[in-house]
Amino acid sequence: MVKIHVANHPLISHKLTALRDKETKSPTFRLLTEEIVTLLAYEATREVRVWPHTIETPVATAVGVEIADPKPVVVPILRAGLGMLEGMVRLIPTAEVGFLGMVRDHDTLQPTTYANRLPDDLTGRQVFVLDPMLATGGTLIAAIQYLFDKGARDITAITILSAPEGIKNVEDAFADKDLPLTIVTGALDEKLNEKGYIVPGLGDAGDRLYGVV
Ligand code: URA
Repeated sequence: MVKIHVANHPLISHKLTALRDKETKSPTFRLLTEEIVTLLAYEATREVRVWPHTIETPVATAVGVEIADPKPVVVPILRAGLGMLEGMVRLIPTAEVGFLGMVRDHDTLQPTTYANRLPDDLTGRQVFVLDPMLATGGTLIAAIQYLFDKGARDITAITILSAPEGIKNVEDAFADKDLPLTIVTGALDEKLNEKGYIVPGLGDAGDRLYGVV
């Protein structure tokens, strides 16, 4: 039930190459992240719900569309997902924004939730989860499960880079659930290393966005 869309666009590949470069400093890294997310969001929102909307042009009446209510919910996973938020809401400024704070234990690689600010009921909402690195998939699986438990059934995850291991883990985790899940990613990398980092990857996305704290 998991649809994977890997961006195949020279502009995204160009920006990703600069993002991966270890010489790229935080200010440029943040800017590139926003730009890449806006490009990925264009693909990720292909099936965003719209309804008819009638307007007057200077010449005639025209029936167009507008994003339907309830508006989509964008959920960046803190900390690194925050770096993707601006690029996403630039494309859908009317989206509501919820937050999910998850941290991955460096030894066990297991995620725990330390904060959340989300509507109690996500039934009928289109949800876009933002997390730059789909590595083992542990964080994304926990986040999707959390949203699923709140009633969301239309979930799209946007990631900058993904590892094959992570994609498989997400697929396995939701194989027996009636959940049409979509992952839109900038690139599918080679593998994970023994520390759970994506190879070739870009290092620790949170640290590269915001520095080591
Ligand atoms: N999280 C990161 O920030 N980088 C990785 O390579 C894997 C997980």
